[in-house]
Amino acid sequence: MFNEFLSASHNIENLLLSPFEKTLNKTLNKIDSQVINEKEIAFNLKKVDGALSKLAQHQPLKTLINFIINLINNSQSQRKALTDELTHTYAEVKLLRTQLSESREQAAIDSLTGLLNRRGCQSKLQEFNINQTHSTIAIDIDHFKQINDSFGHAVGDKVIQLIANIIKQSISADDIAARLGGEEFIVVMHNKSIKIAENIAEKIRTSVEKLKLIQKQTNTYLPKISVSLGIAELDEEENWDSLFEKADKAMYQAKELGRNRCVISQTSCLV
Ligand code: GH3
Ligand code: MG
Ligand code: MG
Repeated sequence: MFNEFLSASHNIENLLLSPFEKTLNKTLNKIDSQVINEKEIAFNLKKVDGALSKLAQHQPLKTLINFIINLINNSQSQRKALTDELTHTYAEVKLLRTQLSESREQAAIDSLTGLLNRRGCQSKLQEFNINQTHSTIAIDIDHFKQINDSFGHAVGDKVIQLIANIIKQSISADDIAARLGGEEFIVVMHNKSIKIAENIAEKIRTSVEKLKLIQKQTNTYLPKISVSLGIAELDEEENWDSLFEKADKAMYQAKELGRNRCVISQTSCLV
């Protein structure tokens, strides 16, 4: 459904709004240059009119010139009304384009953390060349249910936000971080080997481990928060789904081995 919305909104923008905006802009420019021409003609006619005022015998010519000046003035005020209307439409088209791209962005972003959501991640992955070296990190908060149960959902949300920020700050601008749902995240590292991904995963793990959180209402410390991470590298002829599956399996191994650790997928080898 998201892909349908994405392609429909791109179609509206590319096939309808952009060409309409361009045509409106051209029309406004044409009207502008006509107004400039007419202003010049009116200015020259006024000069002739001034010169003729000194010569009483040219009264019929003067009347004719005044008539033309009036015509020009009328047409100018009509054009002004048209320009105002077109400028208003132009502004509306611009606003529509902005709203369309904003709603496209909102549909791709997780409102709690500001990270991409699953759909946003899938859509962003299309910009990556799958034949390059990419690595991924699957991240899951440990014993998160206990935090919710002991401190409430709002505190749980705050923890999710804090961990999302740590993830965001630990990766580079060309990497992808997404919240796949609940307390699960994924990082896709653009054009980076598993060795780099391992360093980043360890950085995320230690940053989370160092968090010292106090619940404001009760002034009590939250128990230590930790995450389990699974790391995998995209092998030749693999697709994104199988890469995520590898990382996910490694993350579950990290859980089994006692949590708060990084595990590299068995099928990915370090060189
Ligand atoms: P494990 O270490 O095995 O991952 O245990 P866990 O408790 O973290 O995992 P489990 O899957 O048992 O619990 C995840 C909890 O996350 C259950 C659910 O209520 C909670 N959760 C899911 N989404 C949200 C959310 O958006 N906000 C909050 N506060 N809690 C959420
Ligand atoms: Mg968990
Ligand atoms: Mg989970």
